[in-house]
Amino acid sequence: MATWGHQAAGVSESQLLHLERDAMACSGISTAGRCRAIGLLVAYGVLGTPRARIIRETLRDWFGMLRLAESQPNAIESIRSAWAKAKTVFRLNNNNIQSVHGIMSNLIHMLIQAKWNPVAYNMWVDPSGTQWVTSNFKVAPDIVAAALTKSFLNIDLIRASQHYDGKGLQCGLDTDNTLRYLRNIKTRCNVTHSFKAMLETITSGAMWPAVRVNSISSIFPDLCPRCKLAPETALHTFWTCPCNKDIDEPMIAKTNKYIQRAVLEAETLPCLWFRGLLPQAVIDKVEIPPPPGELDIEYINPLNIKWTSGIYYGDASGGEHTQHNKLRRCGVGLASVSADGTIFFGLYSNLPGAVQSVGRGELLALVLLIRFLESLADCEFITDNENVYKTFNGGPRKGANSANCDMYEEVFRLIYEGLKNEGEMDAITP
Ligand SMILES: [Zn+2]
Repeated sequence: MATWGHQAAGVSESQLLHLERDAMACSGISTAGRCRAIGLLVAYGVLGTPRARIIRETLRDWFGMLRLAESQPNAIESIRSAWAKAKTVFRLNNNNIQSVHGIMSNLIHMLIQAKWNPVAYNMWVDPSGTQWVTSNFKVAPDIVAAALTKSFLNIDLIRASQHYDGKGLQCGLDTDNTLRYLRNIKTRCNVTHSFKAMLETITSGAMWPAVRVNSISSIFPDLCPRCKLAPETALHTFWTCPCNKDIDEPMIAKTNKYIQRAVLEAETLPCLWFRGLLPQAVIDKVEIPPPPGELDIEYINPLNIKWTSGIYYGDASGGEHTQHNKLRRCGVGLASVSADGTIFFGLYSNLPGAVQSVGRGELLALVLLIRFLESLADCEFITDNENVYKTFNGGPRKGANSANCDMYEEVFRLIYEGLKNEGEMDAITP
């Protein structure tokens, strides 16, 4: 099934169901008993599901169109009033897809479907009450698309929580931590393909212990085929079967200390104990100090500091917990280097703010350089981050579509204002 032109035509829930079923059929995860919502996540990732792609493509085109409209006289005013009228139509007809006639009505339909409030063409409110105000280049379509995708996922999770051993998912899923182990397997050659496939099957709820089989066919005995002592429930299979202690596998032996807890929480959190799905509510109880909001710069060779023409190197890293989104705290370095490789001077700093991605840190090195450079300096900035290299060379339009569009906006504004730098800036990768 093709999706060309969906941005303007819209995709109905039944068309989307077809897309999702096709996608699941390609995943290789066994069909019987699996949960579609979790299966799609496991196979394609949060932002790779058919719905996520449709949302992202729609929002990119919408913001592209708004940028074009900004340069047309009266276009924004027309969009503003058309939005208000279209919104009323969807409110009155129960968000009927038949009323989608183009990208704007499609977007309004999509927002209402995700339980967002499409207040105005440039102001939307998500289910948590957060306002998304869009103005000029400081909007990253992919960030809004990810938030919208998450809202749809939360709706799907309520349905998934009623599925086999899905209880606990109704208040959200920590997708990062749930999928981390599976994602890392790709790079671990000592783990077999079948082990990964088995984990995907368990996560997707496609396991069939004897009690589950017995529930649809009473001819099949519900007794555990290994110990023959008790009915084989999920709790029995994974945690309480006495035969588990005979399995010669350190990973299983290491988790024996959790058996008591699994028994206690089997009723309330089967998604965690029998499918390895970490509910958001469990992780939200852990308090993590927020990253500082202010820059804290330290200088190397402070007596040599001269922000003049030359070669500058930038780099960043995510620190000790770089693997974990919420724990990652990025550090940034910037150095002025001579042709023979000697460092004239340099600086290092934290990456301030809530978004702690290494890519954003790499970009901060460029931002700091442009902030500090003297007027008319002609310099070369060397980065090993391909995104920074490509996006900078792609110019302001490319920067505006980046997740770090706020920083690119500053970069290009400073360059074009000519306040700091009227010379040439070239980003190159070694
Ligand atoms: Zn047993």
